[in-house]
Amino acid sequence: MHLIEQFFDSRCVGCSTWGVMVCDTCIARFTAIPHRAITSRGIPLVALGTYRGGLRALILSAKHRSAHAAIRRLGGALRDAVLPWGNVIAVPVPSSRPGFLARGYGLGSTIARAAELTVANCLLMDDVGTQRGRHRLERLRRDIHVGLRRPPMGSRVVIVDDVMTTGASIDAATDACVRAGLRVVGVLVLAIAEQRATAPLTT
Ligand SMILES: [Zn+2]
Repeated sequence: MHLIEQFFDSRCVGCSTWGVMVCDTCIARFTAIPHRAITSRGIPLVALGTYRGGLRALILSAKHRSAHAAIRRLGGALRDAVLPWGNVIAVPVPSSRPGFLARGYGLGSTIARAAELTVANCLLMDDVGTQRGRHRLERLRRDIHVGLRRPPMGSRVVIVDDVMTTGASIDAATDACVRAGLRVVGVLVLAIAEQRATAPLTT
Protein backbone atom coordinates (compact mmCIF):
# COMPACT_ATOMS: atom_id res chain seq x y z
CA MET A 1 0.00 0.00 0.00
CA HIS A 2 1.27 3.44 -0.90
CA LEU A 3 1.91 6.04 1.75
CA ILE A 4 -0.82 8.29 0.36
CA GLU A 5 -3.39 5.50 0.74
CA GLN A 6 -2.34 4.89 4.32
CA PHE A 7 -2.78 8.59 4.94
CA PHE A 8 -6.38 8.58 3.73
CA ASP A 9 -7.20 5.21 5.20
CA SER A 10 -6.48 6.45 8.71
CA ARG A 11 -9.12 9.17 8.59
CA CYS A 12 -12.90 9.02 9.03
CA VAL A 13 -14.66 8.82 5.65
CA GLY A 14 -17.26 11.30 6.92
CA CYS A 15 -15.34 14.05 8.69
CA SER A 16 -11.62 13.19 8.30
CA THR A 17 -11.09 12.66 12.01
CA TRP A 18 -7.87 10.74 12.46
CA GLY A 19 -7.57 7.14 13.47
CA VAL A 20 -10.87 5.49 12.47
CA MET A 21 -12.54 4.37 9.24
CA VAL A 22 -15.78 6.03 10.29
CA CYS A 23 -16.12 7.83 13.61
CA ASP A 24 -18.91 7.51 16.17
CA THR A 25 -20.03 11.10 15.59
CA CYS A 26 -20.60 10.49 11.89
CA ILE A 27 -22.36 7.19 12.51
CA ALA A 28 -24.68 8.89 14.99
CA ARG A 29 -25.34 11.78 12.63
CA PHE A 30 -26.28 9.58 9.69
CA THR A 31 -28.14 6.89 11.51
CA ALA A 32 -30.32 8.73 14.02
CA ILE A 33 -33.66 8.37 12.21
CA PRO A 34 -34.12 5.90 9.35
CA HIS A 35 -35.64 7.34 6.20
CA ARG A 36 -38.74 5.63 4.85
CA ALA A 37 -40.29 5.70 1.38
CA ILE A 38 -42.32 3.57 -1.00
CA THR A 39 -40.90 2.25 -4.28
CA SER A 40 -42.78 2.48 -7.56
CA ARG A 41 -43.74 -1.16 -6.99
CA GLY A 42 -45.39 -0.17 -3.72
CA ILE A 43 -42.71 -1.79 -1.55
CA PRO A 44 -41.78 -0.10 1.76
CA LEU A 45 -38.19 1.14 1.69
CA VAL A 46 -35.84 1.88 4.57
CA ALA A 47 -32.64 3.92 4.17
CA LEU A 48 -30.24 5.77 6.43
CA GLY A 49 -31.12 8.98 4.58
CA THR A 50 -31.04 10.80 1.29
CA TYR A 51 -28.02 10.49 -0.96
CA ARG A 52 -26.46 13.90 -0.44
CA GLY A 53 -24.05 15.79 1.73
CA GLY A 54 -22.10 13.91 4.32
CA LEU A 55 -23.88 10.59 3.88
CA ARG A 56 -23.19 10.62 0.13
CA ALA A 57 -19.56 11.52 0.72
CA LEU A 58 -19.26 8.80 3.31
CA ILE A 59 -20.74 6.10 1.05
CA LEU A 60 -18.69 7.19 -1.97
CA SER A 61 -15.51 7.27 0.05
CA ALA A 62 -16.20 3.89 1.61
CA LYS A 63 -16.93 2.35 -1.80
CA HIS A 64 -13.94 3.95 -3.45
CA ARG A 65 -11.67 2.62 -0.73
CA SER A 66 -13.44 -0.72 -0.40
CA ALA A 67 -13.87 0.24 3.23
CA HIS A 68 -16.16 -2.62 4.14
CA ALA A 69 -15.74 -1.91 7.84
CA ALA A 70 -17.44 1.45 7.29
CA ILE A 71 -20.15 -0.13 5.12
CA ARG A 72 -20.75 -2.73 7.84
CA ARG A 73 -21.17 -0.02 10.47
CA LEU A 74 -23.72 1.77 8.29
CA GLY A 75 -25.58 -1.45 7.49
CA GLY A 76 -25.59 -2.39 11.16
CA ALA A 77 -27.28 0.89 11.94
CA LEU A 78 -30.30 -0.33 9.94
CA ARG A 79 -30.69 -3.48 12.01
CA ASP A 80 -33.47 -2.13 14.22
CA ALA A 81 -35.30 -0.59 11.26
CA VAL A 82 -35.74 -3.97 9.56
CA LEU A 83 -36.97 -5.81 12.65
CA PRO A 84 -40.66 -5.04 11.93
CA TRP A 85 -40.37 -7.02 8.69
CA GLY A 86 -39.96 -10.14 10.80
CA ASN A 87 -38.44 -13.30 9.41
CA VAL A 88 -37.16 -12.26 5.97
CA ILE A 89 -34.41 -13.31 3.59
CA ALA A 90 -32.22 -10.58 2.10
CA VAL A 91 -31.78 -10.68 -1.67
CA PRO A 92 -28.96 -8.35 -2.84
CA VAL A 93 -29.28 -6.55 -6.18
CA PRO A 94 -26.65 -7.89 -8.59
CA SER A 95 -24.27 -5.39 -10.11
CA SER A 96 -23.67 -4.74 -13.80
CA ARG A 97 -21.90 -1.47 -13.26
CA PRO A 98 -18.24 -1.89 -14.24
CA GLY A 99 -15.94 0.17 -12.09
CA PHE A 100 -18.76 1.39 -9.88
CA LEU A 101 -18.05 -1.11 -7.20
CA ALA A 102 -14.44 -1.83 -6.42
CA ARG A 103 -13.32 -5.33 -7.35
CA GLY A 104 -16.66 -6.27 -8.85
CA TYR A 105 -18.63 -7.37 -5.82
CA GLY A 106 -21.84 -5.78 -4.73
CA LEU A 107 -22.31 -4.24 -1.34
CA GLY A 108 -25.82 -5.59 -0.82
CA SER A 109 -24.59 -8.74 0.89
CA THR A 110 -22.33 -6.76 3.22
CA ILE A 111 -25.15 -4.39 4.15
CA ALA A 112 -27.65 -7.20 4.69
CA ARG A 113 -25.33 -9.25 6.88
CA ALA A 114 -24.50 -6.15 8.90
CA ALA A 115 -28.24 -5.68 9.47
CA GLU A 116 -28.23 -9.30 10.71
CA LEU A 117 -30.35 -10.63 7.87
CA THR A 118 -29.97 -14.04 6.24
CA VAL A 119 -28.69 -13.54 2.70
CA ALA A 120 -29.59 -15.43 -0.47
CA ASN A 121 -27.49 -14.32 -3.42
CA CYS A 122 -30.07 -15.71 -5.82
CA LEU A 123 -30.49 -12.77 -8.19
CA LEU A 124 -28.37 -13.05 -11.29
CA MET A 125 -27.77 -10.54 -14.02
CA ASP A 126 -27.02 -11.60 -17.57
CA ASP A 127 -23.92 -10.01 -19.04
CA VAL A 128 -25.21 -6.87 -20.68
CA GLY A 129 -21.73 -5.73 -21.69
CA THR A 130 -21.33 -1.99 -22.14
CA GLN A 131 -24.74 -1.28 -23.65
CA ARG A 132 -26.12 2.10 -22.73
CA GLY A 133 -29.07 4.26 -23.62
CA ARG A 134 -32.75 4.67 -23.15
CA HIS A 135 -33.51 0.97 -23.14
CA ARG A 136 -31.53 0.36 -19.99
CA LEU A 137 -34.71 -0.06 -17.94
CA GLU A 138 -36.11 -2.67 -20.31
CA ARG A 139 -32.80 -4.51 -20.35
CA LEU A 140 -32.63 -4.54 -16.56
CA ARG A 141 -36.10 -6.02 -16.35
CA ARG A 142 -35.19 -8.68 -18.87
CA ASP A 143 -31.72 -9.45 -17.62
CA ILE A 144 -32.23 -9.80 -13.88
CA HIS A 145 -33.58 -13.18 -12.90
CA VAL A 146 -33.69 -15.52 -9.94
CA GLY A 147 -31.17 -18.34 -10.18
CA LEU A 148 -31.36 -21.92 -9.04
CA ARG A 149 -30.07 -21.37 -5.51
CA ARG A 150 -33.17 -19.53 -4.41
CA PRO A 151 -35.36 -19.34 -1.32
CA PRO A 152 -38.46 -21.58 -1.30
CA MET A 153 -41.58 -20.36 -3.12
CA GLY A 154 -43.54 -17.92 -1.00
CA SER A 155 -40.54 -16.83 1.06
CA ARG A 156 -40.65 -13.28 2.39
CA VAL A 157 -37.69 -11.41 0.95
CA VAL A 158 -36.11 -7.95 1.23
CA ILE A 159 -34.26 -6.42 -1.74
CA VAL A 160 -30.93 -4.90 -0.64
CA ASP A 161 -28.68 -2.43 -2.48
CA ASP A 162 -26.23 0.29 -1.50
CA VAL A 163 -27.92 3.33 -3.08
CA MET A 164 -31.26 3.69 -4.83
CA THR A 165 -30.89 6.28 -7.60
CA THR A 166 -33.41 5.84 -10.43
CA GLY A 167 -34.98 2.83 -8.77
CA ALA A 168 -34.71 0.82 -12.01
CA SER A 169 -32.43 -1.85 -10.59
CA ILE A 170 -34.52 -2.29 -7.46
CA ASP A 171 -37.75 -2.47 -9.47
CA ALA A 172 -36.20 -5.04 -11.79
CA ALA A 173 -35.02 -7.06 -8.81
CA THR A 174 -38.48 -6.82 -7.25
CA ASP A 175 -40.13 -8.01 -10.47
CA ALA A 176 -37.71 -10.93 -10.79
CA CYS A 177 -38.48 -12.07 -7.25
CA VAL A 178 -42.22 -11.76 -7.76
CA ARG A 179 -42.01 -13.73 -11.02
CA ALA A 180 -40.16 -16.44 -9.11
CA GLY A 181 -42.93 -16.68 -6.53
CA LEU A 182 -41.19 -14.79 -3.72
CA ARG A 183 -42.96 -12.21 -1.57
CA VAL A 184 -41.08 -8.90 -1.58
CA VAL A 185 -41.91 -7.20 1.73
CA GLY A 186 -39.24 -4.50 1.83
CA VAL A 187 -36.30 -2.71 0.27
CA LEU A 188 -33.18 -1.87 2.28
CA VAL A 189 -30.58 0.63 1.04
CA LEU A 190 -28.01 2.86 2.69
CA ALA A 191 -29.28 5.94 0.86
CA ILE A 192 -31.99 7.03 -1.55
CA ALA A 193 -31.63 9.72 -4.22
CA GLU A 194 -33.11 12.97 -3.00
CA GLN A 195 -35.64 13.41 -5.82
CA ARG A 196 -36.97 9.96 -5.08
CA ALA A 197 -37.36 10.53 -1.39
CA THR A 198 -40.29 12.89 -1.10
CA ALA A 199 -43.04 11.17 -3.06
CA PRO A 200 -44.11 7.72 -4.13
CA LEU A 201 -41.94 6.65 -7.01
CA THR A 202 -42.90 6.50 -10.65
CA THR A 203 -40.98 4.86 -13.45
ZN1 LIG B 1 -16.46 11.25 11.25
